[in-house]
Amino acid sequence: MDKRPTLLLIAPGKWGTLWIDKLQAGPIRLVVHGRDAYATDAIDYALSFRPPPGLLKSLRNLKGVFSLGAGVDGFLENGDYPERVPLVRFVDETLAVEMAQFVVMQVLIHHRRQRLFDAAQAQKKWAQMVLPRRTEDTRVGLLGLGEIGLLCAERIADHGFPVSGWSRTRKAAPRVTSFAGDDERDAFLGQADILVCLLSLTRHTKGILNAGTFAAMPAGAFVINVARGGHLVEADLVAALDSGHLSGALLDVFETEPLPPTSPLWSHPKIAVTPHVAAISQPGVVVKFALDGIAAFERGERPDNIVDVKTAY
Ligand code: NAP
Repeated sequence: MDKRPTLLLIAPGKWGTLWIDKLQAGPIRLVVHGRDAYATDAIDYALSFRPPPGLLKSLRNLKGVFSLGAGVDGFLENGDYPERVPLVRFVDETLAVEMAQFVVMQVLIHHRRQRLFDAAQAQKKWAQMVLPRRTEDTRVGLLGLGEIGLLCAERIADHGFPVSGWSRTRKAAPRVTSFAGDDERDAFLGQADILVCLLSLTRHTKGILNAGTFAAMPAGAFVINVARGGHLVEADLVAALDSGHLSGALLDVFETEPLPPTSPLWSHPKIAVTPHVAAISQPGVVVKFALDGIAAFERGERPDNIVDVKTAY
């Protein structure tokens, strides 16, 4: 009889193929949801990003669940997560490094007016100019100073921007001005010329990028959302851009993904869209994370980064 623990992979669409071969080589029995027939009681562990509603609850012998991504909103948003089962989120330096690279790139593209030069080139125009704002006068604010936000803050500070961050608890990072809690949110927003959202998505942060938030920001501010689509009220962003209060936005994540061709965000002149690529978990690292976690559970230990289901991140 096969004594290996059984792992159910609930993969989002075509992505599954990236992990299957590597997982199969591990000391587990792999079952792929949607491909293999399986008895729900035979599943010991699950690896997923956004499991179908009710599925995890039907796996009565589940000992642990692993998230393919850093955010666990896809597990907790429906309120049907089996709370007795530890949920382990993916935390890895490679993800934070990739995100920091992407965020620095977008801050610089905006700050150095790169899109304006791209447009000028398309018209064969020599748009030589002195940049309208100095780096030391361009304040970058990060909503969220967690595993990823803190590294992004450091990397942005490396480029000479004044950096601040807002989180639930106060942080002590030497080059980052820390704002904490709801009482300090407006003071934080009022000094963010470029706002980068790197919050976890919970019921407290859903829709946080809304009309009130944009109104509290300085005129001409720029918004970057690389956290989750649920943080943004899309219509409020479009209104703040159309009124001229905000100067532009870069969106990597959306309420509905893939972003439907009918979405007005695709063609808005002040919005740049990327297809949820800011930081993608490397398959090899994800597989190691899941296999190491399973081995820890099997030894009777608890792996790192078990989510507090109360705070939901
Ligand atoms: P994390 O370590 O859990 O950090 C979350 C941050 O949000 C923390 O600083 C936390 O404050 C803050 N926060 C949560 N609730 C808050 C509240 N009510 N008020 C104020 N602050 C609050 O998450 P992470 O690993 O850095 O990931 C950050 C985000 O990036 C997630 O949404 C994740 O899904 C997203 N992400 C996107 C991509 C992509 O490709 N676009 C890739 C990876 C991750 P405390 O520090 O005080 O707890």
